[in-house]
Amino acid sequence: MKAPLILGAGPAGCMAAIKLARSGAEPVLVDRDAVVGDALCGGFLSWRSAERLRAIGLQLPDIGAHPVTRLVLYAGTAEAQATLPLTGFGLSRHALDSALRKLAVDSGARLEIDRIRALAPGMAEGERQDWRSDSIFLAAGKHDVRGQARPRQADDPALGLRIRIPAQAALTPLLAGKIELHLFPGGYAGIVCQEDGSANICLALRKSLLARAGGSPRALLDQMAAQHPQFGARMAFAAADLPVDSIGAVPYGWIAQSTQPGLFRLGDQAAVIPSLAGEGMSIALTSGALAARHWLAGGAEAAPFYQSEMARAAKRPVGVAKLIWETAESERFGAPLVKMARLAPWLTGWAMRASRIAA
Ligand SMILES: Cc1cc2nc3c(=O)[nH]c(=O)nc-3n(C[C@H](O)[C@H](O)[C@H](O)COP(=O)(O)OP(=O)(O)OC[C@H]3O[C@@H](n4cnc5c(N)ncnc54)[C@H](O)[C@@H]3O)c2cc1C
Repeated sequence: MKAPLILGAGPAGCMAAIKLARSGAEPVLVDRDAVVGDALCGGFLSWRSAERLRAIGLQLPDIGAHPVTRLVLYAGTAEAQATLPLTGFGLSRHALDSALRKLAVDSGARLEIDRIRALAPGMAEGERQDWRSDSIFLAAGKHDVRGQARPRQADDPALGLRIRIPAQAALTPLLAGKIELHLFPGGYAGIVCQEDGSANICLALRKSLLARAGGSPRALLDQMAAQHPQFGARMAFAAADLPVDSIGAVPYGWIAQSTQPGLFRLGDQAAVIPSLAGEGMSIALTSGALAARHWLAGGAEAAPFYQSEMARAAKRPVGVAKLIWETAESERFGAPLVKMARLAPWLTGWAMRASRIAA
């Protein structure tokens, strides 16, 4: 039996690598990027993500994460606030992924740099070389690998946009201690401070909105800022030349129900929770730990058992988040949802808890 092969050194892949390495399995962790980037998604870490990280010895305040205790919702003129069940955090993916990669290597995983082009049973075809193992952990996140692509939504898929506004004296206090969700017809924007005081503005929007803005992400953001005053008040701090990052066609709601022996699907390759729940990172970390546990107990043959346990664990949070996302982005129900959240804060508390992964 060859060492387990983990494809992708994001949160899911690193968690699997750390757990396997600490149990003496000598995993090989392959990522396409030699230098850790700053991924667009995942700037907010829920209290559940924080718990998972604490359990492997990573204390988020120690790496500068910005504590978040309140959720503030906006839709049109409606506004509501709720206290998070436990403290969450704002942290850039660059800071988190760098810390996780270091922990994986320090725990004994071997990190290799290669871009995987295709997968076949027992083999991953990279640009640099072919990688062989009877146990492959697919943790490539948003990016599909040929041979194991996830189904695509046919009409009007969701796309992700991100603009990062550098720390400013008037902006940072405005966002201190909270995560904001601005609901729009066709999507939402999440705004949270990162460790350096910058504001991470991340949006998930229907692709048709971008088409209507002439295909320019910045023109779309400026249009939304003009139409939604609270969002506009944050965007007023964004210089015109700030870059806007984008990713296309996120398959929200997809869950891998099964797999073949030897192939463990992790993170976004296992389940894609609508991002407004802020639980994708926690699902990624949970899947990495669960897959490692199954592999250590049953080797390559354990993959189908892992995948069905993971699918069961993801079902409720993904289902609840999908319902909230579909209501929040609807022209008719977005503002009433926020008004209801204002009148019945217990409902927001329930929704926040019900959209967490429990495994
Ligand atoms: C718009 C948006 C906003 C979001 N915001 C949040 C949030 O605030 N909080 C939250 O909890 N979740 C959020 N999510 C979800 C969260 O980002 C993901 O669920 C999480 O990143 C999944 O982790 P992962 O390890 O599976 O994949 P990723 O984080 O995507 O990591 C994948 C890794 O694999 C590597 N890789 C990819 N392809 C290859 C290849 N071919 N060969 C080798 N390496 C490869 C990449 O370089 C990367 O290191 C958001 C999602 C979206 C779409």
